Amino acid sequence: MRYLSTRGHPDRRRFCEILLEGLAPDGGLYLPESYPQVGPRLGDLRRVWATRGYADLAFEILKLYIDDIPEADLLALCQRTYTAQVFGTPEITPLKKLEDGLYLQALSNGPTLAFKDMAMQLLGQLFEYELARRGEELNILGATSGDTGSAAEYAMRGKKGVRVFMTSPHGRMSPFQQAQMFSLLDENIHNIAIEGVFDDCQDIVKAVSADLEFKRKFRIGTVNSINWARLLAQVVYYFAGYFQATHSDAQTVSFTVPSGNFGNVCAGHVARMMGLPIARLVVATNENDVLDEFFRTGLYRVRGSADTHETSSPSMDISRASNFERFLFDLLGRDAGVTRSLFADTLGRQGFFDLGSHPAFALAASRYGFASGKSTHANRLATLRDTDTRLGLVIDTHTADGLKVAREHLQAGVPMLVLETALPIKFAATIEEALGRLPERPAGFEGLEDKPRRVKVMPADAQQVKAYLAEQVGS
Ligand SMILES: *Cc1c(COP(=O)(O)O)cnc(C)c1O
Repeated sequence: MRYLSTRGHPDRRRFCEILLEGLAPDGGLYLPESYPQVGPRLGDLRRVWATRGYADLAFEILKLYIDDIPEADLLALCQRTYTAQVFGTPEITPLKKLEDGLYLQALSNGPTLAFKDMAMQLLGQLFEYELARRGEELNILGATSGDTGSAAEYAMRGKKGVRVFMTSPHGRMSPFQQAQMFSLLDENIHNIAIEGVFDDCQDIVKAVSADLEFKRKFRIGTVNSINWARLLAQVVYYFAGYFQATHSDAQTVSFTVPSGNFGNVCAGHVARMMGLPIARLVVATNENDVLDEFFRTGLYRVRGSADTHETSSPSMDISRASNFERFLFDLLGRDAGVTRSLFADTLGRQGFFDLGSHPAFALAASRYGFASGKSTHANRLATLRDTDTRLGLVIDTHTADGLKVAREHLQAGVPMLVLETALPIKFAATIEEALGRLPERPAGFEGLEDKPRRVKVMPADAQQVKAYLAEQVGS
């Protein structure tokens, strides 16, 4: 299997070459040259799922995309990652029936109680493995407004060869999220609270990465959502959800995915391209409706920071969807020239492009199964209340957006699976606003806020972050 760039760079790379990288050299995103087809092998995969479980299913899917890690090693990495001990149940992503035809797939029982653990835990294993093989080290520098940073830290803590330097906006994450990250005392984990907003954190990461000499000297890497390995790991739970919701490979299901950077639902697109019988992939957004606007009208319009709303489903507060270029490349018949001109030229020049009258736009729904919808704060509160009173279930705010939009896209005879992207305890203030009480705290998280913390508060200044990093790395 070789990987190409969505912007047409002539190089073809192998999995482990792109594992530790972000963007392709031409600014594009990596995708496999072709999607392996599972078609007639779907029955085999169903048996793997039923008899050997999630970790082995992950191995069977990952090995279709990874041919530069020996199979025995890859299997061991999967089995070390997807354990009932780390993810709470032997099913890893169990399916819960809400109503006839409507299900919730639990993706949030990992260490940080959000779906990002599903991919990040595997990434931690892959990084440690590959760095040891190369005899190299990596210093991960990131910016987080919550879920990504903590998932990365919990995945990399104690891993050999890896350090994490995670910037976050000082005092702006939820109290639970702050406690989760800052209570990590592992030597290789460094929390940096920046006196500023999330954009300041991102600007610092960009500024440090743009200093190529510093980047090379200190072996700076990232774990952001455009990483192909993260996306690939997420493909697996679409299969696991499908097998749990169906009895025969002739059935189809649909998924609704609370979306921000388009990473999660893009994994669903990959699963569908492999031949998993998915009828619809429904993209659910919050008030930051960049993606809903595109799927309704064909207009992709990046928002400025004044136009990006702070919402009660904050992990979906995006101004642009960083993985979207992957889908668009497929939608445009894998035309790298057009993809490059849209993302590198048109978007940079005018901040939007409009495919409304492009012949490919209609294919997003008709051939690729995409649909979309949007949920607001009022919708979110109403969904939280309804789910609590009628179904006796407390869900998180992002999942509520998904559930609201899923109900608008139900089709008779097609089970609809809503992906649960976080547990309610992470966003307790909004749950309390909706229900008048705090959500339950899962076992093992008692007293989290009272634990000792390790965090360095710093002004929004890339030079100071660089100096701190250099001092910690010690060279
Ligand atoms: C990251 C995140 C999302 C958005 O996922 P994307 O892959 O960026 O589309 C949704 N909900 C929660 C809770 C998240 O942490």
